[in-house]
Amino acid sequence: MAEIVLDGITHRYGETAALRDVTLTWDDGGAYALLGPSGCGKSTMLDIISGLLEPSEGRVRFDGIDVTATPAVQRNVAQVFQFPVLYDSMTVEQNLMFPLRNRGLARDAARARAAEIAELLEIDHLAAQKAKGLSADAKQLVSLGRALVRTDVAAILFDEPLTVIDPQKKWGIRQVLKRVHGELGHTLVYVTHDQTEALTFADEVVVMTEGEVVQKGTPEALFERPAHRFVGNFIGSPGMNFLAVGLEGSSVLIEGVPWLHVPGSVAEAHAIAAGGDGRRELDDLCVGVRPEFVRCASQARPDWPSGVVRRRNDLGTAVLSVVDTPAGTVVAKTATAEADVGERCWVGFDPDRLVLFARGRAVDGVTPIAAAAAGGGR
Ligand code: ADP
Ligand code: MG
Repeated sequence: MAEIVLDGITHRYGETAALRDVTLTWDDGGAYALLGPSGCGKSTMLDIISGLLEPSEGRVRFDGIDVTATPAVQRNVAQVFQFPVLYDSMTVEQNLMFPLRNRGLARDAARARAAEIAELLEIDHLAAQKAKGLSADAKQLVSLGRALVRTDVAAILFDEPLTVIDPQKKWGIRQVLKRVHGELGHTLVYVTHDQTEALTFADEVVVMTEGEVVQKGTPEALFERPAHRFVGNFIGSPGMNFLAVGLEGSSVLIEGVPWLHVPGSVAEAHAIAAGGDGRRELDDLCVGVRPEFVRCASQARPDWPSGVVRRRNDLGTAVLSVVDTPAGTVVAKTATAEADVGERCWVGFDPDRLVLFARGRAVDGVTPIAAAAAGGGR
């Protein structure tokens, strides 16, 4: 197992930059998800870790040793792809034993290890069958097994491995992968574009968009302290709301009402950007709030933005209300509905839960102002 460091990695396919100056550490023994929409560079990153691709710029280090130019076979990384890769003419057992025999492990030891992994993946009853005749998901389980049998690897990389698996089985297989990780302690990177898959699988999630890593954090951190607008929006169901703000001195205003204090330096920088009067609506600044932390009132709350409820969606466990306010559209996720479609609704926020973003990035050192949350009128 190894700590894997990507240091200033840029990768271009011709004109397209698939990765842009990515610097990231995968800790030894960590279980990670790499999450991002299709085309953001996830597979490119995995191929650079495994050595299938050499990056245009930057260095890759395993436990401090530069492996940037080391070919894939010498890196000891096991990679599982979207579609099964195995030997059709071999039996399941032979497929599982192959990576071990290939590295010189004795037949009996290889067979014992193959049996152990087959049992974990619940494919032991298929051991004697030829791979050719297996269903697509059984084949993919064998591919997973071929990566998991190896105990000598620096890391195991899974590139959207459950694409071909029946949806009902996905959860179970993820649990198996988690358990195997717990037993073997591999450095494990699991690529997916599905937030549920990422959040339920990993200790830490690395979120990518457009060739950049925008946050690495626990599922809780991504939900509670998104470092980037993209994370706020991509994580959560539905994603974060973003509201237009103004700035007066060091106070951040929503519809003229102060909700947050910003550090002096940020306030100054934006006052300059706004042209000196410091009171304009700033399009590079916005406040994010998750639907779970929005409150709704059908009675006037002078300090809260208000608007007409455009849509309502009963989820059974909660109600989603879509309210068009002058600061922007706000989706609220509340226990009960406060206003009907077409009626006016006032929306308030827990100021501790507001995140200020400047040019898409979360601003540190922001403190909440409690007064507005009471809804009060001045
Ligand atoms: P993901 O795995 O997140 O879907 P990829 O790493 O496969 O993303 O691709 C990132 C970007 O690089 C995409 O815009 C994709 O079209 C482009 N790309 C990937 N592979 C190649 C290639 N072999 N040649 C040219 N462009 C590529
Ligand atoms: Mg991919």
